[in-house]
Amino acid sequence: RMITIKSRRELESMKKAGDVVARVHARLGELIAPGITTEELNRAALEVMKQAGAIPSFLGVPCPYGGCDFPGVICASVNEVVIHGIPGAYALQEGDILSVDVGAIVDGWHGDAARTYPVGRISTEAARLIQVTEESFVAGMRAAVPGNRIRDISEAVQKVVEGSGFTVVREFVGHGIGTEMHEEPQIPNYTGRERGPRIAEGMTLAIEPMVNVGTWRVNVLDDKWTVVTADGKLSAHHENTVAVTADGPLILTQLW
Ligand code: MG
Repeated sequence: RMITIKSRRELESMKKAGDVVARVHARLGELIAPGITTEELNRAALEVMKQAGAIPSFLGVPCPYGGCDFPGVICASVNEVVIHGIPGAYALQEGDILSVDVGAIVDGWHGDAARTYPVGRISTEAARLIQVTEESFVAGMRAAVPGNRIRDISEAVQKVVEGSGFTVVREFVGHGIGTEMHEEPQIPNYTGRERGPRIAEGMTLAIEPMVNVGTWRVNVLDDKWTVVTADGKLSAHHENTVAVTADGPLILTQLW
């Protein structure tokens, strides 16, 4: 799938999807506390989307590893779970960190954003992990300007993360987004040999560092969805759908 350049009008449409995603996160932010289950959070997310007339992006996505279609509206990834955690009966505990990924479709356009939430009081290390993950997103986003290469985003993310003593997940990457949840280009959070395509006005990018306290290596559980750190240490995720504009990068997944 080629990289698509969005017109101003199309960006306005994507803002609507971004607004719904931000509203879901705002609601979950109110609810997340010790005792609530990730299934209850999933239901709350669906309720917000329904009221907004939006369609959940993740529900029913085919499994890349040959398992069941994704059964959740949100991905709920606790502690050592990196991404793709399936909402269920687990009740959050004081000191957990919970990464929630939310995708919504409005009028055929996708919005995609992830946040990592503290559950009650968390450790200093967990708080620093969340902060560094957010900062690495911001650094990556700032590199999303016309004329740069995708690699400049990757480099900016990796510098913040590794400069803080954490590691970036390599097996999963950010992506272009639009009428499909995953479009070209891929946006790694580390640099390799590839410079990647040149960034241009009208691109819409899901920039999403996944950051680990220990090893960057990950495993997939038997449910064929849940991605965990190989050493069982904490992981955090921060993501927004960002538009490249002449005035600089613009976060679409915010309350409009
Ligand atoms: Mg994404």
